[in-house]
Amino acid sequence: MAQPMVGGIYTADPELLSLRATMPRFLEMERAHRSIIWAMWKASRAAAKDTPLHKAPQRGTSGARYSLFLTFDGGMQALVDSIVARLPPSAIRLNTTAERLTFDGESGQWIVRTNTGESIRAGAVCLALPSYAAARLLREADAALAAELDAIPYASTATVNLAYRRASIPHPLDGFGFVAPYVEGRATLACTFSSVKFAGRAPEGHALLRAFVGGALQPGMFALSEEAMLAAVRRDLQDLLGIKDPPLFSRVAKWTRSMPQYHLGHLDRIARINARLQNFPALRLAGNAYTGAGIPDCIRSGESAARELLINCSRES
Ligand SMILES: Cc1cc2nc3c(=O)[nH]c(=O)nc-3n(C[C@H](O)[C@H](O)[C@H](O)COP(=O)(O)OP(=O)(O)OC[C@H]3O[C@@H](n4cnc5c(N)ncnc54)[C@H](O)[C@@H]3O)c2cc1C
Repeated sequence: MAQPMVGGIYTADPELLSLRATMPRFLEMERAHRSIIWAMWKASRAAAKDTPLHKAPQRGTSGARYSLFLTFDGGMQALVDSIVARLPPSAIRLNTTAERLTFDGESGQWIVRTNTGESIRAGAVCLALPSYAAARLLREADAALAAELDAIPYASTATVNLAYRRASIPHPLDGFGFVAPYVEGRATLACTFSSVKFAGRAPEGHALLRAFVGGALQPGMFALSEEAMLAAVRRDLQDLLGIKDPPLFSRVAKWTRSMPQYHLGHLDRIARINARLQNFPALRLAGNAYTGAGIPDCIRSGESAARELLINCSRES
C-alpha cells in the first residue's frame, strides 16, 4: 500500500523517506489511534455520519476528496500571468537568470547579478528556487548554508499526456487514476484520469490521461527516449485499462531534478538551515524543498518568507 502511494505522489523511495517530514498527518494518526488503518476507518465513519443524505456523494466520487484537487482552467501559466499582471512592469524581469548573489556588509544590501548583465541592489531577497540552485547562489555568502541546501536530494520525473476518444478506452474510468507498485516492474508510476479529475480537460466523447514515469526508484525509465517512454506507457495502459488504439495525440515532458526527497534527517537539516538564516535577516528561502512539495505548501512557504522579510526589514529601518 505505502510504496505505490509514496512512489506515485512523491516519486520517492519509502525506505528512505521521513514520515514526519513528508506526511506528518499519518504519524499523528498512528500515535493517536495506534494504527493508521483504524484511524482512517474511524475518520471515514465520522465523515459518512456528517454528510447529510441530500449531499451524499455520487458513486465513484466523494465530496470531501473533490476539494483536494484544484487546478487552473487555463493551466499553470495562469499563476505566473496573474502575478505578472499585478506587479508594476519595472519590478519584474521575466526569463532572466540570477547568476550571482553577494552580500554587501557595509550597506547591508544584497546584490543580484543577472545573465542580462544587470546588477540589482536589494534590501531583501527571497530565493524561491530549487535548493541546489539556491546553493549555487549562496556559496559566496555562506558556504555552510550552501552545503546544507545542496545536500537535499531530488528525483526526476516525466509526464506522458495521452488524448483518446472515450470509445477507445474499455475501462469505466470510475476513479481519479491509479498508482502502480514498483514490484510490477512497469514504466508507469501512476496515471491520472485528468479529464475525470478536472472539468474542461477534454471535449465531450474524449478523455485525457496523464502518466508519470521515473522518480527516485526508476531513474532508468526517466532516461528513456521520449519515443521509448511513450511506447512503454502505452504497453502499461493496454495491460491495465485495455487501451489498444493509438492516442489521438501525446506529449512527453521531462522534469529533471524536480521533486525534492524528504529523507530521514530532513527536518534536522531544515532546522540547521533556519539557524544559519538567522545571520541574514534580509534573506529567506521558499519553495518545494523545505516544508511541503504541493503547490499550496509552496504558496504558504512564499507567503511566510515574505511576511518574515517585511517584519525583519521594518525592524531594521
Ligand atoms: C510532474 C509533476 C507533477 C506535479 N503535480 C502536482 C499536482 O498535481 N499538485 C500539486 O500540488 N503539486 C504537484 N507537483 C509538485 C509541485 O508542482 C511543485 O513542488 C511546485 O510547483 C514547486 O514549486 P517551486 O516554486 O518550489 O519550484 P519551481 O516551480 O521549480 O520553480 C522554481 C523556479 O526557479 C527558476 N530558477 C532556477 N534557478 C534560477 C536562477 N538562478 N535564477 C532565476 N530563476 C531560477 C526555475 O526556472 C523555476 O521556474 C508536481 C510536480 C511535478 C514535477
